Amino acid sequence: MRTIGDHPDFVRKDRYGILAVGPMDEDVRRQLIRHRIREGGLPLDHLVELGHGRGIGQACDGCGETIATDQRMTVRICSDGWRTVRLHDECFQIWDGERSQIGEREG
Ligand SMILES: [Zn+2]
Repeated sequence: MRTIGDHPDFVRKDRYGILAVGPMDEDVRRQLIRHRIREGGLPLDHLVELGHGRGIGQACDGCGETIATDQRMTVRICSDGWRTVRLHDECFQIWDGERSQIGEREG
């Protein structure tokens, strides 16, 4: 089974030929988030608590990119068994949409 890092959509080369991830377009971001939900890397359960703030230079749990201090961040505080999940605002929107779609299909 391929890991996410091997997926051609998630690995890009920059103009110098150096492998780099991102910047991602929304479709790639969506695929990555959907993958993480299916792999159990992101929760599928209901929302417990939600907060907003600025990034603190930590990686987004959705797309894996750093949430810069000048970017808006959505923090989702999860129920039992889930740590705090930090997402870019846009990643949160994607996750929320994917989560409900997967929930409807499989739940
Ligand atoms: Zn993100």
